[in-house]
Amino acid sequence: MLPYATLGEAEAALGRSLTFAEDIWFRYTARMPDYLLFYHNIIFLFVIFSLAPLPLALIELGFPASVSSFKIQPKIRLPPTSFFQCYKDVMRVFLLVVGPLQLSSYPTIKFVGIRTGLPLPSLWEVALQLLVYFVVEDYGNYWIHRLMHCKWGYEKIHRVHHEFTAPIGFAAPYAHWAEVLLLGIPSFAGPAMVPCHMITFWLWIALRQLEAIETHSGYDFPWIPTKFIPFYGGAEYHDYHHYVGEHSQSNFASVFTYCDYIYGTDKGYRYHKALLAKLKEQPRNGDKIGTNGFKDGGKSD
Ligand SMILES: [Zn+2]
Ligand SMILES: [Zn+2]
Repeated sequence: MLPYATLGEAEAALGRSLTFAEDIWFRYTARMPDYLLFYHNIIFLFVIFSLAPLPLALIELGFPASVSSFKIQPKIRLPPTSFFQCYKDVMRVFLLVVGPLQLSSYPTIKFVGIRTGLPLPSLWEVALQLLVYFVVEDYGNYWIHRLMHCKWGYEKIHRVHHEFTAPIGFAAPYAHWAEVLLLGIPSFAGPAMVPCHMITFWLWIALRQLEAIETHSGYDFPWIPTKFIPFYGGAEYHDYHHYVGEHSQSNFASVFTYCDYIYGTDKGYRYHKALLAKLKEQPRNGDKIGTNGFKDGGKSD
């Protein structure tokens, strides 16, 4: 809730007129308690989990030929029931874990200093903070993910996320409840280290989930804007991790490629890509290598 009763009071406190965005923010939040603003995240996550993977899923199920040339594992076609079951399981974890976690973490948000007032942050501030959050989260996620590939971690927890050897968008948040909790730590570490405005925090939560859905889409579209982000992993990069499955020692990072490069955990993937390129140059009888497919290159790790 803002400490100003009127727009005039807000402008007097700032010593200038409100910008258009600040005017909207004032009208929307002036009488709204801060905890309700924070709980918007629950709605955003529900909408993103439900709607963001939907268009591609409908195209894949209804008109598979129109996108088949971009499918990373073209031989795998899941029935509609698999899509629905995945969504149902995601919603169960959402109701039992994600929602309660959000509801109970408001005091922490307050403690680390996520602010809701005026002035709003500049676009530069938002962009730089988001960059920090992505890098911090990527690093933390890399190590938690890598640890979860130990025998105990995989069998007890991470196995659930790997049920999809050819991932779909709906499978991005599909995981054991303990994994959802664990991966919440690096997601929150960035905002705890560099506190931001609530708008930036909303954006962070939304963008991170949209990125995960794209990464799990199962499609490698050449025109996707994320291709222009330096060191960005993308769908094909993470798809390989799912393709190899339990014994994968490659591509642990969730967003960027630099961690796998630095710690040498992209060797299997690079070897595999080189092998595929070679096979495409010299096709053997009966071998058909898709543009993006992992077909028949052999699982390297
Ligand atoms: Zn994994
Ligand atoms: Zn995954």
